[in-house]
Amino acid sequence: MNITRYARIENSPRPREIVLLKAFPCQWGRCSFCDYIHDNSADESEMNSTNAGVLRQVTGDLKALQVINSGSCFEIPAASLQLIKETVQRCQVQQLYFEAHWSYRHRLDEMRRFFGLPIIFITGVETFDDHFRNQVLKKGMIYRDIAEIRQYFASVCLMIGMQGQTREMISNDVKIAIENFDYVTINLFVDNSTGIKADLELQAWFKCEFAWLQQHEKVDILFENTDFGVGAAIQS
Ligand code: SF4
Repeated sequence: MNITRYARIENSPRPREIVLLKAFPCQWGRCSFCDYIHDNSADESEMNSTNAGVLRQVTGDLKALQVINSGSCFEIPAASLQLIKETVQRCQVQQLYFEAHWSYRHRLDEMRRFFGLPIIFITGVETFDDHFRNQVLKKGMIYRDIAEIRQYFASVCLMIGMQGQTREMISNDVKIAIENFDYVTINLFVDNSTGIKADLELQAWFKCEFAWLQQHEKVDILFENTDFGVGAAIQS
């Protein structure tokens, strides 16, 4: 599979470079809609060598770097984390963005201490509907209230347009995300190799009803999973 691993997100309220690194398998690994984990590996030297090549492309001219892997930042090999650190120092990056599953919420400060830089942590909530998130999507994210999420994560991802979701659920998700978080990434679900299927009618409704989100200062919308410029077209 041909995977693009470096891109620049310039048409965003928060311009930044983005790298998709290789990492160990997602520790949670049970989300029913996810087959990103096909990019995971156990070959540490191969991962570090791939990641070194990707990180060499970072210039720092946007002063912000988002690092994603098919999992959480805690699954990136230690030598690659060190390479990220050297890269941000060399390029004078001032703001990092990392992703982490809810189960890592108590460890986020480890990364802040290691990098010595402001880090915005992003977590994939997908939906605030507890039943759909945990029973259907198997997200493994149980929280007391929204304030508990906000305590750890300034930024959330929502997944929109899967069979079983409703217009009410989506409207509620968007409202909660915008009212409570600094940044929101909205992904329209694209069919992949899992049993979760896209609801194209719901997505068409969303694009029309929420067209205004494309201009919202907090929001990045990905109509395709490669819209940030990294990744590969999904094989369903
Ligand atoms: S936590 Fe992320 S990478 Fe892991 S299974 Fe869920 S969606 Fe996939």
